[in-house]
Amino acid sequence: MSISDNVKQVQSIMAAHVQHAEPTLIAVTKSVGVDVANALYEEGIRDFGENRPDSLLEKVKRMPEDAKFHFIGTLQTRKVRQIIDHVAAIHSLDRLSLAAEIDKRANKTIDCFVQVNTSGEDSKHGLEIEEVMPFIENCKQYPHIRIIGLMTMAPFTEEETVVRETFSRLRQLRDEVTAKAFEHAPCTELSMGMSNDYPIAIEEGASFVRIGTVLVQ
Ligand SMILES: *Cc1c(COP(=O)(O)O)cnc(C)c1O
Repeated sequence: MSISDNVKQVQSIMAAHVQHAEPTLIAVTKSVGVDVANALYEEGIRDFGENRPDSLLEKVKRMPEDAKFHFIGTLQTRKVRQIIDHVAAIHSLDRLSLAAEIDKRANKTIDCFVQVNTSGEDSKHGLEIEEVMPFIENCKQYPHIRIIGLMTMAPFTEEETVVRETFSRLRQLRDEVTAKAFEHAPCTELSMGMSNDYPIAIEEGASFVRIGTVLVQ
């Protein structure tokens, strides 16, 4: 299928699973070059996900000005400075040292998602569920950090109920944070759902889905 067909198919599946508001589709272009990213742009995509600073900066340089870039991977503290002026949001805030570095390097408020390890798998990055609230409270000391939501990756399994519970747990946690009405952490958003599980994530309230493989293959 063509990129155009891929985009249309993903958008129609998204529409079929929408509950309230239409989620934002982030096209994950980490495995493809600027040419494919630009083809996605031509199809109307404006939000792109990258997990390596070099690859993000290359696309920033060679794509139209209104393309927005989301950093979705493990972010090394020493790389923050390179990307900080070029990101729409960072989806992988998972430690205070990273929050401190973002705060130090930022020239404006930076929208961040706290990454949560909802699967309990050791290999997955992110904070444990019970660490999330104290972490967010701690982030108050960093004036350039605004926590706009939570992000997770579901466990890799065919079992739909496990995946659904993972997303629903993240939504409950998001609601607990929202209820605190922190000024620095409105935490209204949910970044969840990838190629193999985005319909379930949308049913469970995702406001951003991060989709790579099925768009670019
Ligand atoms: C690669 C990646 C995605 C996209 O995964 P696909 O299965 O290709 O859709 C989403 N989120 C993160 C954090 C990723 O690293």
